[in-house]
Amino acid sequence: MNQKLALIAGIFCSFISIMFFIFMTEDVIGFHYADVKENILAYSYLIEPSNTTDALDKRGLLTDGLAIGSAFALTFSMLLIYLANGQRAVLLLSGYFLIRAIILTLLLGYVLEVGASRFYTLFDFDIPLLVILSKLMLMWFALLIFHIKKESKKTYWLIKSTSWALVLYLPVCFILPIEVSFKLSVFIELAVGLLLLAAAVQLIQKNQRLSVLFAAFVFAQLIIDLLKIIALFNLNTDVYQDSPYLYTSSFWLSGCFTVFMLSRGYYYQIQDKEIAEQRALASLQKSKKAQEDLLILKEENQEKLESRVQERTLELNIALQELEEANKELEEKNTLDELTGLYNRRYYDQKIVAEYRRSRRNLTPLSLVVIDIDHFKNVNDTHGHIVGDKCLVWVAKKIKDILGRVTDLGCRYGGEEFCLILPETDTKGAISLAETLRTSICSEIFVDGDQKIPITISCGISTYWQQPDITPTEIFDAADQALYKAKDNGRNQVQKKILTETIKS
Ligand code: GH3
Ligand code: MG
Ligand code: MG
Repeated sequence: MNQKLALIAGIFCSFISIMFFIFMTEDVIGFHYADVKENILAYSYLIEPSNTTDALDKRGLLTDGLAIGSAFALTFSMLLIYLANGQRAVLLLSGYFLIRAIILTLLLGYVLEVGASRFYTLFDFDIPLLVILSKLMLMWFALLIFHIKKESKKTYWLIKSTSWALVLYLPVCFILPIEVSFKLSVFIELAVGLLLLAAAVQLIQKNQRLSVLFAAFVFAQLIIDLLKIIALFNLNTDVYQDSPYLYTSSFWLSGCFTVFMLSRGYYYQIQDKEIAEQRALASLQKSKKAQEDLLILKEENQEKLESRVQERTLELNIALQELEEANKELEEKNTLDELTGLYNRRYYDQKIVAEYRRSRRNLTPLSLVVIDIDHFKNVNDTHGHIVGDKCLVWVAKKIKDILGRVTDLGCRYGGEEFCLILPETDTKGAISLAETLRTSICSEIFVDGDQKIPITISCGISTYWQQPDITPTEIFDAADQALYKAKDNGRNQVQKKILTETIKS
């Protein structure tokens, strides 16, 4: 926005400046077209005095007004642009145009008169001074616009030290005779031109933007400087006098170059900014996309993780359940006899102690029946062990059938011997149960295929009734003794043994 305003103001200033120089009069402003020999001392010693008024007549006030007015307009425009954007390079360019505009004014033969006094003497040294000043501006402008400090330290140092040397030389201009200072200024111009050309070539090698344009500009300036040197040493060549258009066009050439360079610089700057913005936007979008992807991935992973945890938990629960069942089965297997399905010897050992304690605690009778199949060896010997096993299963089934109470327990004690633990059962009850079993077995014949095997059993009974100093082993021993008694008495019968008798005997 500011730059647009500056442009409009610049155009307006240009118009005013051009008008000012076209229509200026001696009386209004004080600019006079003076005798070239008299007022442009800078090069008057080079040329033969001639009728300069004729020269003016040839060119006309309009042409001069356009040239000088445009030069000042350019200066103002740059100044306004500087005020708008604050870039030092533009201010330097404005200064450069101002000095060039003043030089052009002087070279075209105009001097400023204020009141009655004429500042001729001031212009005795002003051309060399202004020339050097303009070159200084150009060097600083080049340093800024091309960022030479970053590109090449050596070149930067060279240009910088040359510019400081020129600054120091400026006061010397006042002291030196005009002829000498003028000649020197032309050589300085040439030297600075060469230095800037070398710098421009270096910038071209480094592919710096606008460096080719700058090189072309410096080169064009060099040609003009060379022409000046020719004029300087060939006194008959009246470069300035005969060709006022040469320095007008020289000014415009440099003006066009620098303005074009500046505008290109701006264009690149804007382009760079746009590219940088686009890149930033692209990378922002990219990072946004990456973040979104990451979020989706996270959510997916979370879901996966959760479902996996659920799966694993389920599997674990199933495994635990299976393990529990297996343990239960194992425990049952550990307590049960594999062949008969009755409780095994290990279970009997635990159970008899438990029931013995319960009986003592509750003061209830505990009866134990020890059962032995009669002449079972013969069964095995006659029919074989497999039939013997089947016979054992058959007897076990009979035992299971006669056990009426939940608390009654049938065990396979070992081989073809069985035990019945009968809690809360007295001797009478135990005898009754044993008799029932014995009768049920002997009344029925065990049949396996076409083999009929009569089976009988002998039973020994003992009953614990909290007799002092009686242990579970002694309960069993008593029942076992009763069993022997049954065997001795002819088998297939039930015998009892009173526990106290065991202790006594
Ligand atoms: P008794 O009337 O004196 O008891 O005579 P018996 O032949 O039964 O003598 P004993 O009780 O000493 O014999 C035990 C026999 O029981 C020995 C063996 O052949 C048989 N036996 C022991 N355990 C098993 C078993 O698990 N399966 C089979 N088939 N036979 C067994
Ligand atoms: Mg036996
Ligand atoms: Mg036996």
